[in-house]
Formats: sequence, C-alpha cells, structure tokens
Amino acid sequence: MRVLAVGAHPDDLEILCGGTLARFSREGHDVVMCHATSGDRGSFVTTSEETAAIRDGEARRAAEICGAEHATLGLHDGEVNAADPAQRTLVIDLVRDTRPDLILTHHPQDYMSDHNEIARLVFDCSFHATLPLYETSRPHHEKVTPIYYMDTVMGLGFQPTEYVDVSEVIETKVAMLEAHQSQLVWLRDHDGVDIVEQMRTATRFRGLQCGAQYAEGFIPCLTWLRGMTKRLLP
Ligand SMILES: [Zn+2]
Repeated sequence: MRVLAVGAHPDDLEILCGGTLARFSREGHDVVMCHATSGDRGSFVTTSEETAAIRDGEARRAAEICGAEHATLGLHDGEVNAADPAQRTLVIDLVRDTRPDLILTHHPQDYMSDHNEIARLVFDCSFHATLPLYETSRPHHEKVTPIYYMDTVMGLGFQPTEYVDVSEVIETKVAMLEAHQSQLVWLRDHDGVDIVEQMRTATRFRGLQCGAQYAEGFIPCLTWLRGMTKRLLP
C-alpha cells in the first residue's frame, strides 16, 4: 500500500501515529509523512524563517528514521484554513501526487485549529482529488481513499475503536520524535511539558487499553465511499 499521513505541524505525526508509520514502513509499505505548516511560529529564540528551516531539517530526519518520504505544504502556523481555495488545491495535489491507498490524519475535534482544519481539508480534498473536472496541474486520483483519524493530543475526547501494537517500534517512535530537538525545547518552554515523556505515557496508556505494552489508537472515517471490508492498519 501507499500510506499518506498528514499532520498539521512538524512533530504531530511522530507523537500521534509514529509507531504505526514505522510499522507500515518496516512491513514494506510506502509511507509519505506530510506536515501542513512549516512550524514557523513556535520559537522564543529564532526568527520565523530560521525556525522553519530548522524544523524542516528535523522533519526530514524523522521521516528518514521512519523510512518514510517527507513532504510539506509549507503553510504558516495558525493559518490552516479548510475554506481557502489555494490550500484546498495544495491538498488535492498532495493526494494526486501520492495516490494513497490509505490516509491517516488528525481527528476533527483536536485541541487547536490547525489540527481540526487539516482534518477537514484532508476529508474534503481526498474526495475532490477524484473529480476530473476539479482541474489542477495533476491528473485526478482514481478512488476516494479510506481515512483513519489518529488520536487527539493526550487522547482527550477520543475513544479509539482500533489499536495498533507499537511495542516493537517504540524506540523508533521515540527517535523520530527526538529528531525534533527545537520542538522539544519549545514545548518545554511554552507548554511546560517533556513531549517525549508525554508521548511515551500516552502510548503506554493506549497499550494498557488493548493488552499491549505500547499502542496507538485510531477511529475509521466511515462515510459513504470510505467503508472498509478489511482492516488496513498493521
Ligand atoms: Zn500540532
């Protein structure tokens, strides 16, 4: 399969579904990790341009550790907007370029707008990507791609219906997140959290729910045209 994972910011995929992506990659599937924004507004010490360049390098390194391909939409933090026609074209072309069999993205009710708007963009544009008369520079995708919503940050308001055992790849997941060194500092200084410890705890918590050492939780998007007769997660 070709698996497209779309997170709002560099580090979201690593926190919320990094173990599942590592498993997909390890099991021979092609994985594309896309962050919508450049992470350009999360620093007390560097300029937006400097921050974006640092975070791009960190995200590329994390994708490399996963064995995934790196992609970004290059949007500004805080400006993800599902109603913006230019952003819709970017996501349609992301789908048309990657031609996924499965998409992982944010749950529509997470803790901040960029996450929720990306959920909406991916839901809408993975449908519109199949319309030949929704013309962009790329040919239309053949099918409306199934979507799994990944966990919310700290699992708040999210009841998983599917779990992926990531016990064997937990250290890969940790290494992917630790590639985001500038983000670890930012989240410590801005939010008072050790994000690696938080991620490990949340992944352990999901593991305890399903009888695994570590796990990640998901909810399938079960609208018409996206129903699945078999499980697509590892
Ligand atoms: Zn985020």
